[in-house]
Amino acid sequence: MPDDPIIPIIEGDGIGPDVTRAARRAISAAVETSSGGRRRIVWFDVPAGETALFRYGDLLPGPTKDAIREYVVALKGPLTTPVGGGFRSLNVTLRQTLDLYANVRPIYWLPGVPSPVTHPERLNLVIFREATEDVYAGIEWERGSPEAKRMIDVLEHQFNVRVRPDSGIGLKPMSEFGSKRLVRRAIRYAVDHGRRSVTLVHKGNIMKYTEGAFRQWGYEVARDEFADRTVTSDEVLRSHGGKVPEGRVVIKDVIADNMFQQLLLRPDEYDVLATPNLSGDFLSDAAAAQVGGLGVAPGGNIGDAIALFEPIHGSAPKYAGMDKVNPTAEILAGVMMLEHLGWEDAAVRLREAVKAVIAAKVVTYDLARQMEGAREVGTAAFADAIIERFHGA
Ligand code: NAD
Repeated sequence: MPDDPIIPIIEGDGIGPDVTRAARRAISAAVETSSGGRRRIVWFDVPAGETALFRYGDLLPGPTKDAIREYVVALKGPLTTPVGGGFRSLNVTLRQTLDLYANVRPIYWLPGVPSPVTHPERLNLVIFREATEDVYAGIEWERGSPEAKRMIDVLEHQFNVRVRPDSGIGLKPMSEFGSKRLVRRAIRYAVDHGRRSVTLVHKGNIMKYTEGAFRQWGYEVARDEFADRTVTSDEVLRSHGGKVPEGRVVIKDVIADNMFQQLLLRPDEYDVLATPNLSGDFLSDAAAAQVGGLGVAPGGNIGDAIALFEPIHGSAPKYAGMDKVNPTAEILAGVMMLEHLGWEDAAVRLREAVKAVIAAKVVTYDLARQMEGAREVGTAAFADAIIERFHGA
């Protein structure tokens, strides 16, 4: 790891430039002040989204993908995806073309952030969501298209399955390879970070050969590859008198709909979650709401070689260019990026500064309107307040 890595950065659409510029300044300052000026990030602006379409006629230019492949760690702001026809989500395309198979979302509460639940501090999760398969694989055909008609015909004549002729058709592929590498990453993370459990989330009672298989493959990874570091919740009850053996991560599973209840009712019983693509998407937004919403929730898209960090929220076009929205989610995506680079000191410094500024009630409008006695600041001024902390102001 050089002291001055080149990191590609996509500003993004809508509020993207506002939050990305704020995050970039705060991340750079954390790196420089924590290393006494020895380290710095050389940001490399790469285009994607609406600006790229306007300038180069391409939403995701080849050189942008090449730069991320070359420099392996990158940061991005949100990108707009029009609903319905037109193009597929750029985020989904980025995850698939760069094989960023694990969408990682740490969800924890920052003291002072308004929350709709009584004890937001009881939730402290890391969600590992599979990001290349499931119904998000993009294998679907429009109602009435020749492909949809042909699929319906094949289903009827070769599989004796009747589907209404006016149906759109989508496929839900979930492979052993794709599921196991996701669960492997979740368990490895839990083992390395001293986490207590990994919960396999699935809807296997209904979709046996996809979601049910995800559960089974997950237990197999634990048994075959982490036998000396894990224990299943069944084994804890059967062979260990209900007490988790020292140094073991508990592997358990919960059905997806129940998981939503569990996160509200018994949040402290969950730690690391490994989920298929669709349920992980729903769950992570719901869990983010519990700790204060999308404005504070970061994510990472991680493959075997490449990692791309981002805020979970979208491009909120109505606030574009107003210097108004909350850059916390993208700054915390920067914290994840610094941890990934192995710059733990800068990561801790940045996260603690965010916490301190919010605890001092210096916040953007989204939090200010829910907090008593808050001082409302714009996006750039929030970043300034963080940077001032590094200089002891
Ligand atoms: P959104 O997250 O952009 O905005 C929903 C609402 O959340 C906003 O109106 C705003 O009130 C609030 N909000 C979002 N970010 C905030 C912030 N940083 N600070 C304060 N408030 C914030 O969701 P949307 O309106 O459903 O989507 C808009 C566009 O973004 C769509 O094109 C969508 O496809 C895209 N999107 C992109 C990503 C991504 O790039 N990863 C993720 C989600 C949505």
